[in-house]
Amino acid sequence: MSILVTGGAGFIGSHTVVELQEAGYDVVVLDNLSNSNVKSLERVEAITGKKVPFYKADILDREALEEIFSKETVEAVIHFAGLKAVGESVQKPWEYYENNIAGTLTLVDVMRKHGVKNLIFSSSATVYGDPAFIPITEQCPKGQCTNPYGWTKSMLEQILSDIQKADQEWNVILLRYFNPIGAHKSGTMGENPNGIPNNLMPYVTQVAVGKLKELGIFGNDYDTHDGTGVRDFIHVVDLAKGHVKAVKKTEEKPGLKIYNLGTGVGYSVLDIVNNFEAATGVKVPYVFKPRRPGDIATCYSDATLAKEELGWVAEYGIREMCEDAWRWQKNNPNGYDE
Ligand code: NAD
Ligand code: UDP
Repeated sequence: MSILVTGGAGFIGSHTVVELQEAGYDVVVLDNLSNSNVKSLERVEAITGKKVPFYKADILDREALEEIFSKETVEAVIHFAGLKAVGESVQKPWEYYENNIAGTLTLVDVMRKHGVKNLIFSSSATVYGDPAFIPITEQCPKGQCTNPYGWTKSMLEQILSDIQKADQEWNVILLRYFNPIGAHKSGTMGENPNGIPNNLMPYVTQVAVGKLKELGIFGNDYDTHDGTGVRDFIHVVDLAKGHVKAVKKTEEKPGLKIYNLGTGVGYSVLDIVNNFEAATGVKVPYVFKPRRPGDIATCYSDATLAKEELGWVAEYGIREMCEDAWRWQKNNPNGYDE
């Protein structure tokens, strides 16, 4: 079975390509490299020993998509391509709606014209808004998103669900990720943020490696065990393996399926700092700052459904997430840039 991976040069995409190739799938990657470096795919090839056919293309470019679907034998698409910076989406909502929504509509249209109706979509726990209950099951109602990025995920879930409802040949799997961190065990692949990181773990590792002075912890007055925000951090390799299980699921009866991919365990920001220091022996200086607008106190999953229906559970613990993130940062202080 061959899989087209959009956004496959990115953080989660590149780790997923490793797992797909290691599971025996043929993979083709499409990415416009707007937030990634093609070197990630060279690292994939070094790990798996297999070539990664790559198209530098945009999901908004219908002609380019037509060409790929004509040339390649695509049976399923894992769709990672999208813009994902929350703050930037507030400044540039049009760009986010255009890229993420119009891009996905174009992709899906080309897919159906070529009779490809297996789609695995990167969604996010952000669609739950301030969750109605914790731990969050897939039954938890979707909520109000606090930024355009989140709305693109929520709206795309609706759009893809409607498309599946209208044409029952579609197999649509919506994967709601919690907080992916960590890196490949080899230390050759990991997260490669542009500029100053927005997310917690890359900020922590850049402080640890001396590129940034100190971590700002956004809020210490939340209703959590130590006052800092609690999230469900998941190792990116576990997340990648979840996609391999989802691909297997597309071989069953078509339909709409929705799964949380998380560990089911919540760690606070301070827990992360403490675990990182314990795992690596490196100090992470921090200061408390005001709450970040749009943040919620607590978010963690109940991932029982993925266990029952996909046979998937997250295997790595917080120590490995910290060790692996650190190995990548230490070996590659400038990410994929030399
Ligand atoms: P990433 O930025 O590393 O990967 C996304 C990739 O898509 C990049 O390589 C980028 O160049 C590419 N891309 C963007 N727009 C494109 C377009 N128009 N055409 C072709 N390629 C395009 O991000 P990631 O962390 O690997 O996230 C992958 C997906 O998972 C995204 O859809 C993201 O929104 C979603 N997600 C990520 C997280 C997270 O915390 N990292 C959490 C929930 C959901
Ligand atoms: N966070 C922080 N300092 C940072 C980045 C993040 O204190 O520099 C906190 C943030 O407020 C949240 C948690 O870390 O409580 C996870 O944030 P991240 O942006 O990584 O993911 P989110 O859950 O917002 O998608």
